[in-house]
Amino acid sequence: MEQKMKDLLAGAWEGKYAVPAICVSNMESVLACFQAARAARSPVIIQSAWSEMEPQMITYADLAGLIRCFGARFAEVPFAIHLDHGMSEEECMGALAGGFSSIMYDGSAGSYEDNVTVTRRLRRAAGAGGTLEAEVGRVGGAEGGGGDFEIVKSDPEQLRDFLEKTGADAIAVSIGNFHGSHGVHKGAPKLDFELLARLHDVCGVPLVLHGASGIPEADVRRAVTMGICKVNYYTQLYNVYMDCVRDNCGETMEECMGRATRVLAGEIEKLMDMCGSAGKA
Ligand SMILES: [Zn+2]
Repeated sequence: MEQKMKDLLAGAWEGKYAVPAICVSNMESVLACFQAARAARSPVIIQSAWSEMEPQMITYADLAGLIRCFGARFAEVPFAIHLDHGMSEEECMGALAGGFSSIMYDGSAGSYEDNVTVTRRLRRAAGAGGTLEAEVGRVGGAEGGGGDFEIVKSDPEQLRDFLEKTGADAIAVSIGNFHGSHGVHKGAPKLDFELLARLHDVCGVPLVLHGASGIPEADVRRAVTMGICKVNYYTQLYNVYMDCVRDNCGETMEECMGRATRVLAGEIEKLMDMCGSAGKA
């Protein structure tokens, strides 16, 4: 059953687990999310960014409709539909108009003042039923289809100020995590747990870990006990997915894509176990 993202995150906050947020942009990836959530008895956040949708010629309304279509078939699965990395106010408004109930505004590339101003406007636009995630500091790496951004760690004082001024429902933190697995940021990300504890202390809202691919499992589990309630996954899932497609591209389309969807669902199920959301639906 569809839920508000903030309600899924409130359950995670209470229960000290995180809900995996899985990037999708086609039917196979959406189906894999629901298959995994059913098997693991887990809630799931199903998200996409415009940079993932545009190459596949799919619109916000198309994707929201597709997710709700599977949502009816997997009626026992609690899910939310979320825009990952809205890079502009227009992208965020487009997602809301297309039926997404939750948006992330990523103002991390601009000035702090602009991030506050736009986040506050979008919080109002999302309304009481909507959820708004924002970013303080900059996660860095390859994000939103763009190039390679330097990491700027989140500052606890700035976070306190940001929450007062914007009313954001969830905050993406920069604590040594980064997007993608290429470019200037090579090797496994090293999380700054001391900083995470300080951010959690000043912050009454759920925290979000972006760029979780490649972070050692023990570190993800530890972060989840320290206020991380949503963990975003893209790179590690689609590396496995595309490896499966490449290894089996001699099969028929139906066999090849079906196999890749099952492999993807299996990988998502492992993440639900790692995040502690398995068994929570
Ligand atoms: Zn991100």
